Amino acid sequence: MKNIAVIGAGTMGNGIAHVFAQFEYQVTLIDIDRSILEKALATIEKNLNRQLKKGVITEEQLKATLERINPQTELAKAAGAELVIEAVIENDDLKKKIFKDLDEVCPTNTILASNTSSISITELAAVTNRPDKVIGMHFMNPVPVMELVEIIRGLATSDETFQTIFDVAKTLNKTPVEVNDYPGFVSNRVLMPMINEAIYCLMEGVAEKEAIDTVMKLGMHHPMGPLTLADFIGLDVCLHIMNVLYKGLGDPKYRPCPLLKKMVAAGHLGRKTKKGFYTYE
Ligand code: NAD
Repeated sequence: MKNIAVIGAGTMGNGIAHVFAQFEYQVTLIDIDRSILEKALATIEKNLNRQLKKGVITEEQLKATLERINPQTELAKAAGAELVIEAVIENDDLKKKIFKDLDEVCPTNTILASNTSSISITELAAVTNRPDKVIGMHFMNPVPVMELVEIIRGLATSDETFQTIFDVAKTLNKTPVEVNDYPGFVSNRVLMPMINEAIYCLMEGVAEKEAIDTVMKLGMHHPMGPLTLADFIGLDVCLHIMNVLYKGLGDPKYRPCPLLKKMVAAGHLGRKTKKGFYTYE
């Protein structure tokens, strides 16, 4: 496999394109308009320069990596890829439309992967005529730095597709982990209820926010407290994922904390709005 395409050049898409290009894949990076692609390429260059300063890559590797990325605005340009990774915004209808369109434009042997955090891989696969070749490839943010890739098997994903993608992840110097398709996979199924519980602790007055974060940082050796992490992820994203767990698993233990709902309703979404559990300058 040498040619891949990434759909969506946002936070995750530009990181995924960066890593594939760094490990010598030719990457077609597709988004809806030129200015988004230019911004994505500038981010990739900035992150490559960071790697250069740390001695992770050489000047020649930096140049070659950038040259391997081909920015495009039409989905049909994904047709030449052996693997397409979808990383557009987390919206069911949009992702289903993109999988349907990709199924039409890509040769029948192309593998279609999604970087979704919470949408069912089985459902995305079901809108295509190749459900055996649809899989989840869940990278972590920031992609060039984080080692894990959850590889999610939809109900119809074939062993061959799974093995190919598992091996591809290793060529990127990542550690792939096999996971089955259930709401939140493993990463968010475990992480989000912990964050949600930390918010309950705050709401019920069990402790102040700094105290809750300190307990988890110093007591459990987490690099970041759960409330700080929630601000970093975005409280709207946390709420969305809790709703996916609640709806998908039907168990009241996943009900989103009322304080989380209230903060999202107020537009206090964390770092991106400069106000969440903490305030940011
Ligand atoms: P983002 O909003 O930063 O980027 C999404 C990009 O998709 C935007 O550039 C947008 O212009 C583009 N897009 C929208 N419609 C499109 C279309 N029709 N065709 C092509 N491009 C289109 O979002 P993100 O944070 O990069 O998240 C992308 C996916 O990755 C989501 O499914 C999310 O759940 C998942 N994810 C996010 C994180 C994270 O920490 N941000 C971590 C793991 C997985």
